[in-house]
Amino acid sequence: MLKKSGQPSLRLRVTAAAESIIRGGHPWVFAQSVREQNRDGTTGELAVIFDRNDRFLAVGLYDSDSPIRVRVLHAGKPQPIDASWWRQNAENAFNLRKDLFADHQTTGFRCINGENDGWPGLVLDQYGDARVMKLYTAAWLPRLREIAALLKGEGRLVLRLSRNIQQIAHDEFGLDDGTTLHGSAIEAPVEFLENGLRFEADVLRGQKTGFFLDQRENRSHLEALARGKTVLNLFSYSGGFSLYAARGGAPMVCSLDISEHALNAARRNFALNPSIPALAACRHETIQADAFLWLRDDPGRKFDLIILDPPSLAKREAEKTDAMGAYTKLIESCLARLDKKGILVAASCSAHVTAEEFFTLARGAAQKSNRSFEEIRATRHPVDHPATYPEGEYLKCIYFQFTS
Ligand code: SAH
Repeated sequence: MLKKSGQPSLRLRVTAAAESIIRGGHPWVFAQSVREQNRDGTTGELAVIFDRNDRFLAVGLYDSDSPIRVRVLHAGKPQPIDASWWRQNAENAFNLRKDLFADHQTTGFRCINGENDGWPGLVLDQYGDARVMKLYTAAWLPRLREIAALLKGEGRLVLRLSRNIQQIAHDEFGLDDGTTLHGSAIEAPVEFLENGLRFEADVLRGQKTGFFLDQRENRSHLEALARGKTVLNLFSYSGGFSLYAARGGAPMVCSLDISEHALNAARRNFALNPSIPALAACRHETIQADAFLWLRDDPGRKFDLIILDPPSLAKREAEKTDAMGAYTKLIESCLARLDKKGILVAASCSAHVTAEEFFTLARGAAQKSNRSFEEIRATRHPVDHPATYPEGEYLKCIYFQFTS
């Protein structure tokens, strides 16, 4: 389809190490692993990878601008990637979610989680009647119309683009971040339900696709712990955890974020749920501040329950050690603000820090406080965010109940 007529298909050979990584199911082939290719490739075309004995290994999307040169679509037996394969690939992801939210109390969830669902570098989230397709590689751009037709669902479809591909999308394909691809134009935040709570998602300008859908299950766990507690939600974004705490019976919830835009959304989200008595009765306070400085400088007000869910502190492997140090400090500062018998919920969304590394550092910081505590829960990915390879596994969260 993208191949110019008469051109042979793009064939690659990779290093022995990469061969075994691909056989093991890993979805990325890095540029430095490519040993030879029969011709130059064009971003978005299919590349077929062969092993040393000329046997088919995998087929994937070629990206001439990315260090991830090929993103694998299929590995194992030879397989034509034709219209029916694409249809089936979409069905596979949709079938996985089919029965998850049958009670209609949750209309915001992830439909496609990138590589983990066989759609490398592509995320599809549902918010009520709208879907948001976010692309992380330019390799999807040449086949966007075909893909959008498969993924659009019943309602509206909006396109989001990661920063690194916005220029090429605009210059070469006339596509901009926030373009509506299907249905009536989306101009305002979209409303949806999560476990019966109403939220808005700023699908055009918000972080990720507008909401952190990956924290849904942790938010539910938190709701069950919040009765009668004063709650501090650090790095609150649009108040996801705050609303659940309020519905769970917290008399006071404080959402803290550096972004005014996020806190305005948090206030609007509270206002969207006036008919839930516990939520209406809860005092919601917002603090716009740098959490690191606030924890360091603000005189010691204490809370019964603290949620700590910062952005990824290690975006690159090289930042990992510093990130772990910063994280340990954050937990220690939180513990200084946690009342006796308080609960700390600490999450990390950095794929460079493994779950075990994170849990170990969190336990270490809790022990160092010299207070007695019990670990009440440790969680990873929710069902609609499957993780099938190490880099895809980023979310982990640990819950401590202090007893002194
Ligand atoms: N817990 C949220 C998601 C957090 S996303 C949820 O469940 O929806 C991370 C948030 O941290 C963003 O809203 C971002 O604005 C905020 N943030 C980033 N750096 C910050 C800082 N130094 N201090 C406070 N907030 C910060």
